[in-house]
Order: sequence, then structure tokens, then C-alpha cells
Amino acid sequence: MPKTAEILAIGSELLTPQHIDTNSLVVTEQLNLLGVEVVAKHVMGDDRERISQAVQDCVGRSNIVILIGGLGPTEDDVTREAVAAALGLELKLSLEQESILISRFRQINRPMAKNNIRQAYLLQGAEAMPNPHGTAPGQYLSTDRGALALLPGPPREMKPMVINELIPRLRPVIPPQVIKVRSFRITGIGESDLDTLIAPVYTKYTNPVTTVLSSPGDLLVSLRAQAETEQEADDLLREVGNPIAELLGDKIYSTNPDEPLEAVVGCLLRKHHATVATAESCTGGLVAARLTERPGSSDFFLAGYVTYSNLQKQQILDVPPNLIQKHTAVSEPVAGAMAEGARRVSGASYALATTGYAGPDGGTDYDPVGTVYLAIASPAETRVIRIRYGADRWRVRTLATQASLDLLRKMLLKS
Ligand code: AMP
Ligand code: MG
Repeated sequence: MPKTAEILAIGSELLTPQHIDTNSLVVTEQLNLLGVEVVAKHVMGDDRERISQAVQDCVGRSNIVILIGGLGPTEDDVTREAVAAALGLELKLSLEQESILISRFRQINRPMAKNNIRQAYLLQGAEAMPNPHGTAPGQYLSTDRGALALLPGPPREMKPMVINELIPRLRPVIPPQVIKVRSFRITGIGESDLDTLIAPVYTKYTNPVTTVLSSPGDLLVSLRAQAETEQEADDLLREVGNPIAELLGDKIYSTNPDEPLEAVVGCLLRKHHATVATAESCTGGLVAARLTERPGSSDFFLAGYVTYSNLQKQQILDVPPNLIQKHTAVSEPVAGAMAEGARRVSGASYALATTGYAGPDGGTDYDPVGTVYLAIASPAETRVIRIRYGADRWRVRTLATQASLDLLRKMLLKS
């Protein structure tokens, strides 16, 4: 069985709306590098009873239990006492820690308050972990299942202690194990359709653990495998990841979790030595903003025209007036003419156009609010698609922007 960990973040302030537990993220990152998964985190106030109960529960089911915070000198910091009570251990004054404390206060030229001596008490059998940035030492205790550690709350004290003291102590007691992650970034399919497609594959496995994260028009599927060797983890990721990749095909736009769609489109444009312009109505410049988000976008982005009024569509993009009269500005022919116009005027190889009813007002019987026409003009052809989104303005604009970028990606993939 692979070793797993639980974290207890302690501090009554962490239960208010003003403070958040960030320390556990640092601890999790370091544990993951040892191949250890954090299976649960708990945030609790400085309450001796509750902490004791939680410690008993954690040591009963997890190999590594890490408590953060509540090691201060004042009476409200009760972590040491709570752990001692939970494990039936005494707290013993360490003469060594006492003299470290005394010399530390001499160093900073401050008198040591009487209650600071509480920080020199160690759990029976625990090893002190030095704290060069503060007064509270950490504590490391071997347990039947693995280890328990106490870390100070201030992030600038905690982080170096995790890296320099805790991890080196844990490394030798953890069997070789690794965590590897495989990610797919996906667009052009909704969350439930995606899950219907891939759940039959991933639900057969508990390792890797599969998660689906969803934001509008953008899904992230992550597979996390834990194994004894890299090879074994890779095999697991292949076993589950390959069928998923096959089912999703070109809906996967990246396997890098940090690479957004506009970055992929930018790479493809560079690769093809191609350029792009945009003609936007309902998205109000969002497509251009995404395309120019990253440095170096001048390599491929030539111009963005935000033509909201009918007149500007005619004057800037050469959309024929009769086209708008006959079909309205939100129509297939006008979207196509906007894209062709932007391409012609800018001299770009590709042009994207958007026109639609973002709402909440407007729309027609045939094209109700949420209807968007997206066009792409390329050297070879002009294509227009019609999509009906819901009625939320922000969603319509966000989804249309993403779909517009995806039209370009798909066309570049084929060319
Ligand atoms: P303590 O060791 O409990 O006295 O905590 C001292 C300081 O560290 C306080 O300012 C806390 O807000 C901060 N702190 C404690 N725990 C955490 C945590 N889990 N994440 C971020 N900051 C924390
Ligand atoms: Mg505290």
C-alpha cells in the first residue's frame, strides 16, 4: 500500500473570512515530490478537544500526519498539548531547546517572556526541528504507521522547515513511490457529454484518479497515478489515458495543463507562417484580446476590428448594405462577409468574425438571445457556423470567443 498523508491546519483565524490556509499547499507540493498523496486536509480552530480528536482519527488511518500552526507561546496556541493528550504522551521540557530559546532572545536583544518557555516542551520521543526564522521549533515523531510532525504557522518559518527538516526525515521512511499526472485540455464539448463519453473508461480505475474540471467552454481532464516506479506510473497513465485520448480526438487542444487555447492557436499560426485578423461584434474584442494575450503575438496578429454598428460593418469591413437589410446583422451571410472583409482589409491569411445576440435583450423568433454566428475566412474558403447558447450575456460572449478561436485551431490543424 502506498503511504498517504493528512494535514491539519490549525488556527482560529483560518476559520474567518479574512484568512485562508495556504501552508498546506506548500506541504502538499513537497509531499507529492516524495510520491505521497495528501488524502485529506482539515482546518480547525485552536480548540484542544477538537484537535485531539482529529489527531486520533488521522493517526488511525494515515501514515503521515502533519499539523501546522498553534505552536506560539501564548495560551491560545494549544497544538502541542492537544497532540500529547491524543497520543497519551507527556510534554517534556527540553533543556537544549530552552537554551536555544534563551540565546535566541539574547541575540535579538529582547527579554524572554515567561510563557515562551512553553515552546521548549517536546512531545515524548519527538525530535526538535530547528527554526532559524522564529522561536517555535518544529517536532518530528515516529509513529506506528509512519510519522507525525508539528510545524509553525508563519509561512516564512514553515516553508524552510518543510524543505530542510521535514522532507529529509520522511524520505528514508517512505518506500519508493512516485506521482505522475497526465492532462488533457478540451474544448468543443460540454461537461456532461464529455463525462458520458469517458466515464466508462476511467471509472474502472481507482489509480490513476481521474478528475474533470470545468469552466465555460474549457474542460481539464487530469489523471493522477501513484506507483512504485516512473515506469509503472507511466503504464497506468497510458492504460487509461490512451483510450480517453482516442475518444476525444481533436477536441483535445493541449496536453499541457498550463497552455490555454490562444497559446495553441498562436503556435499553429507561427508553424504555418500564417497571420490572423478579427472582426467582432457580440464579443466586443475578446477574441483579439485572447489572441494578443501572450508576448510575441505580433508575429501573427495583424488587426482586430470591433464593428458594433451596421454602418461600421459596412464602412470598415465592406459588408454590403443590402446584405444587412436582407438578412439582419446577426446572420450567416453577414458573419461570412465580416470575416472576408477583415481578411481583405488587413491582408491576413485568416480572419475570424463574430456576430450574435449576447442578450439579455434583442433576438428574433428564428435567432433568439444567445444565438451567435461565427465565421472564418481562409485562403481556401469561408465557413460560418451558428450556435445557440443560453441567455447569460457573460457566458455567451465567453463561449463564443472560445468557439471562434477553436474554429481557427481546427482549420489550421487540417491545412
Ligand atoms: P501560529 O503558529 O498558529 O501562531 O500562526 C502564526 C501566523 O501564521 C499567523 O499569522 C497565522 O495567520 C499564520 N498561519 C498559521 N497557519 C497558517 C496556514 N495554514 N496558512 C497560512 N498562514 C498560516
Ligand atoms: Mg495560531
